[in-house]
Amino acid sequence: MTDQQVVDQAPHQLFIDGEWVDAENGATFEVRDPATGRVLCEVADGSPADGMRALEAAVAAQPEMAASTPRQRSDWLMAAYDLLHERIDDLALLMTLEMGKPLAEAKGEITYASEFLRHFAGEALRISGDYQVAPAGGARFLITRQPVGPSLLITPWNFPMAMGTRKIAPAIAAGCTSVIKPAHQTPLSMLAFVDILREVGVPVGAVNAVTAMDAGGVMEPMIRSGLARKLSFTGSTKVGKILLEQCADKVLRTSMELGGNAPFIVFDDADLDAAVEGAILAKMRNMGEACTAANRIYVHESVIEEFGDRLARKMGEMRVGPGTEEGVQVGPLIDEAAQEKVVSLVDDAVSRGASVLTGGSAPDGDGYFYLPTVLAGVPTDARMATEEIFGPVAPLTPFSTEEEALTKANDTEFGLVSYVYTTNLDRALRMAEGLESGMVGLNQGVVSNPAAPFGGVKESGLGREGGSIGIEEFLEVKYVGIALP
Ligand code: ADP
Repeated sequence: MTDQQVVDQAPHQLFIDGEWVDAENGATFEVRDPATGRVLCEVADGSPADGMRALEAAVAAQPEMAASTPRQRSDWLMAAYDLLHERIDDLALLMTLEMGKPLAEAKGEITYASEFLRHFAGEALRISGDYQVAPAGGARFLITRQPVGPSLLITPWNFPMAMGTRKIAPAIAAGCTSVIKPAHQTPLSMLAFVDILREVGVPVGAVNAVTAMDAGGVMEPMIRSGLARKLSFTGSTKVGKILLEQCADKVLRTSMELGGNAPFIVFDDADLDAAVEGAILAKMRNMGEACTAANRIYVHESVIEEFGDRLARKMGEMRVGPGTEEGVQVGPLIDEAAQEKVVSLVDDAVSRGASVLTGGSAPDGDGYFYLPTVLAGVPTDARMATEEIFGPVAPLTPFSTEEEALTKANDTEFGLVSYVYTTNLDRALRMAEGLESGMVGLNQGVVSNPAAPFGGVKESGLGREGGSIGIEEFLEVKYVGIALP
């Protein structure tokens, strides 16, 4: 299929109560290709009333969903897994067109997204309970788990499909209905996935999708209605805080995957080849547009020059261009604002004394590209030391002692992931215990794995996604006290 055929074939409407429908007022918004700025298509711009209709459909479907068997829910997820793989080429092209990442990375994301389906297809079968004798006797405790209920799922644009399956799969596995709201920049991948759920026979109303430009205007009435019991959000810390306040009103269960400011620490005893490879992965996956991206790279002063040279050489060789082109490794950033932010962060660091080892600018021409960039001697008062860069920029800062590295790494309100490269086991364990983050990559530059608990501490979030814990986020514990005199 051609690019346009792939776009035209994807749903462009709202999915409410088992049907694809226009927004009630017929409104639409444009979806653009970030590699060219070209409009790909128009998508339904849901209103607050559309959002409420979707939530009401989810509420109506909740009893049927809760009554479905674990085996049935598992089978829906596995059928969706199979269809994702059958259609991976077209879906990857769709994702690249709306989001910009190179085709190989889009395929990688769809595989990653599909693994949440397979993982939670297993977890659906293992929702367990307990039976216990009261300590003083005379009673028994029966402990069970039930679906939380209708859930609101809000996802960002950087992983248009995986951030959705990471929520929808455990929701379905647990027997929860949902309304998903993908980001307006990248709605198509999620709408295509929701259509796959329809195809595999997930009950009418069990999964609904609402796209909208005014995310806040559409979500707030749903959150405050009291009809939903749960909100799972992936996005910025700023919006996460607003949503937590709104959820307080009706005491919704919340899962929050928020921003990061990951330190990447390279000790003098590290395998430098592995550290350079890991840094490229941690920095350049998704053009640096990931909450897990290495945002501050601390390298021991005795190896920083060599590390910087090697990293700059490799990053400087990476091919930048539209993600649809063969061999491209670095696609465009999501939009003009993202590109401008990276430009201003780099200019700020350079004005404070950082030096450019490679890159350092946006190339001329269409699209929101930025060159892979390595900066040396980035001072701790540079804006990029505290702000998420969300672009292909690796800032290097030297350190001399382990204690200094740990202190610098923890000097942030974020705590999603940290990366450490060392061959010293004692040091590795000390660092793994001392780092204030929900995840640590030890001699590896990527931590995301559907079978592992993903999530942060401090202002990086609440709760975990994936792993055996991921389904708990969509389950309530119920205890039944039984008299047995
Ligand atoms: P980013 O800066 O990466 O776009 P956001 O936190 O702004 O991150 O967006 C993540 C998701 O949250 C998107 O789906 C977006 O539409 C949605 N969103 C943004 N603002 C709000 C809000 N006030 N209420 C609910 N959802 C929002």
